[in-house]
Amino acid sequence: METNRRSFLGASALMAGGALLTSFDCEPGKMPAYRASGKGLKLTWKPYDLQLRHTFTIASNSRKTTAVVLTQLEWEGVIGYGEGSMPPYLGESHETAQKFLSALKLDQFRDPFRMEEILDYVDQIMPGNCAAKASVDIALHDLVGKLLNQPWHRIWGYSKENTPLSTFTIGIDKGPEVVAKTKEASAFKILKVKIGGGNDEEMINSVRSVTQIPLCVDVNQGWKERQEALDKVHWLKEQGIVFIEQPFDKHNLEDTAWLTQHSPLPILADEAMQRVGDLKKLQGVYSGINCKLMKCTGMREAHKILETARSLNMKTLMGCMTETSCGTSAAAQLSPIVDWADLDGNLLISNDLYEGMKIVEGKIVLSDLPGIGIRSIG
Ligand code: MG
Repeated sequence: METNRRSFLGASALMAGGALLTSFDCEPGKMPAYRASGKGLKLTWKPYDLQLRHTFTIASNSRKTTAVVLTQLEWEGVIGYGEGSMPPYLGESHETAQKFLSALKLDQFRDPFRMEEILDYVDQIMPGNCAAKASVDIALHDLVGKLLNQPWHRIWGYSKENTPLSTFTIGIDKGPEVVAKTKEASAFKILKVKIGGGNDEEMINSVRSVTQIPLCVDVNQGWKERQEALDKVHWLKEQGIVFIEQPFDKHNLEDTAWLTQHSPLPILADEAMQRVGDLKKLQGVYSGINCKLMKCTGMREAHKILETARSLNMKTLMGCMTETSCGTSAAAQLSPIVDWADLDGNLLISNDLYEGMKIVEGKIVLSDLPGIGIRSIG
């Protein structure tokens, strides 16, 4: 009976274009009456440290843990889950997240379906704090999806069988360690290899000594000189590389535009791409973008970024930080429309608290659970 009630609630609310139904004043098929609850949204959160399975090294740093904030947004007894992941180079921390979330007065909002109004408020109350903002955005999407009894890929109209393969990331290391990590990743059909740390050929040759599957590379701003970079791109093309992410410093648009123009492989922006407004300056400089919920304040803006990038004929990659299955499952709701996905963040940690999207034979498989498609296992 509860399922039927929820189904009808979902269908009626969708028919109403997002207007909120909290009670049934009509028979199915007749126009329903709407009224908002008298209660406001209740936000709670806790800091949490993700334990990484391997020390994670990219061109700029190494680490063994990632700080995250886990949120819950409750309304009328329904709870939405959210997460903000804060790798240190982005400048957010448990302390900044605590300060940001404490400043929010979400109990003023009595209708969770007013997502634009709520998330505009969250975005405008303070600058920056993108991961903390994402932790609220994801929880609100989870809550609203649960109220509609639908996962977001269905609400947005995407087909779940169109999900792409996900890459698995091999961090910078010495040859034998790279060989061992590549062997461990044998279930994947495409790998992302971190380079830009001064041993690019060793990294690629080590991976290639184990597997011939497609690879993509992430330079993390590690290259400095454009002709040398172009020579590397040509060499990488011969090694079966699919695309190259963030070759130069994010501010170096001139060399990047030159490289993109001459490169036989797509060049994607990651560090250079944050909010939807960045697309304008990156069009023509990069072939495409890496969109991550933690950089762009969450699912609402990621949806705008991906649809806008597609309309500009830019390639799209849905990425993530090291995150629990909460963050990766939220990102995976958008994965049916991207060219590539890099949603392995939950697989890089040993203390996940949720179960959601899976990677089966290298391909993203979305759960049918409503909202962001997760359940708590912690
Ligand atoms: Mg990257």
